Amino acid sequence: MKIKSYAALEAGKALELFEYDAGDLAAEDVEVEVDYCGLCHSDLSMIDNEWGGSTYPLVAGHEVIGRVVAMGSSAQNKGLSLGQRVGIGWSAKSCQHCDSCISGDQVNCSAGKVTTINNHGGFAERLRANWQWAIPLPEGLDPATAGPLLCGGITVFKPLLMHNISATSRVGVIGIGGLGHIAIKILRAMGAEVTAFSSTAGKTDTILAMGADRVVNSRDPQALAALAGQFDLIISTVAVSLDWLPYFNALAPQGKFHTVGAVMKPFDVPAFSLIVGDHSVAGSSTGSPGQLRSLLKLAARTDIAPTVEYFPMSKINDALDHLRAGKAHYRVVLKADF
Ligand SMILES: [Zn+2]
Ligand SMILES: [Zn+2]
Repeated sequence: MKIKSYAALEAGKALELFEYDAGDLAAEDVEVEVDYCGLCHSDLSMIDNEWGGSTYPLVAGHEVIGRVVAMGSSAQNKGLSLGQRVGIGWSAKSCQHCDSCISGDQVNCSAGKVTTINNHGGFAERLRANWQWAIPLPEGLDPATAGPLLCGGITVFKPLLMHNISATSRVGVIGIGGLGHIAIKILRAMGAEVTAFSSTAGKTDTILAMGADRVVNSRDPQALAALAGQFDLIISTVAVSLDWLPYFNALAPQGKFHTVGAVMKPFDVPAFSLIVGDHSVAGSSTGSPGQLRSLLKLAARTDIAPTVEYFPMSKINDALDHLRAGKAHYRVVLKADF
């Protein structure tokens, strides 16, 4: 079965129209026709081989919204049906029999885990994934904006689950871009008190309209110092190194500093900023199928929609340049037009 896609044939090059033979559909897999696919910074990192280990031709794309068009023999009777709308995120397969998988923590599968991109991702007319990672879209969730929930959204939702965030929690979000703006919308829906840390003054009104209770200039040391001891959780979504100390000092007792941004430079954490106040530093990647289902249900029920701008998939190289230039208006979504 031939599948049309846009592939990087070597690191850092413009994507090219590329047709690949996907072979027979594996028993456990479903095939999904792509309607929309979000653009994530990790797509650029994989295309450019920033993390090492990318193999080419590489078909990126891991914020997919589409419809099930085929099901393998063992993917039948698993709650999915032909024509059903599903979302596919960072992961496409997990072994389903290791301790992590058995306990519902499939994202930390110790064996046989495959990412959507390594499996050939969503910059394509169709793609495949294990049925478990094809997340049903709940009734009422807009397929045109839901894509970014599958990677950006789950990445910021998971720390809220890990740290038991509730309506009484005070949470700070550093970096209000593709991930951070979804964090604000989710936290607002959950009823938590949300502080946005942003270096872009011009975004303040938009960020407040998204649901933040206040916006603090992340480049203003005095404003940061005034927040000492206030936050149960601070999530950092930025991929650059900042002066982290004011943020550690801004944690309330038992507060957590949690990074989801892939900062390459090590964190400089003075021991006393952890010891005094019982603070912790944590991190996480993406989520498991159960967590993805929870997020999509929450988004459908409380109208969480990422702020997106659209490009036709045939203009994918323009869309990638737009993202590379830092011009994305929160999140770019590609609309399939094969
Ligand atoms: Zn496993
Ligand atoms: Zn991503």
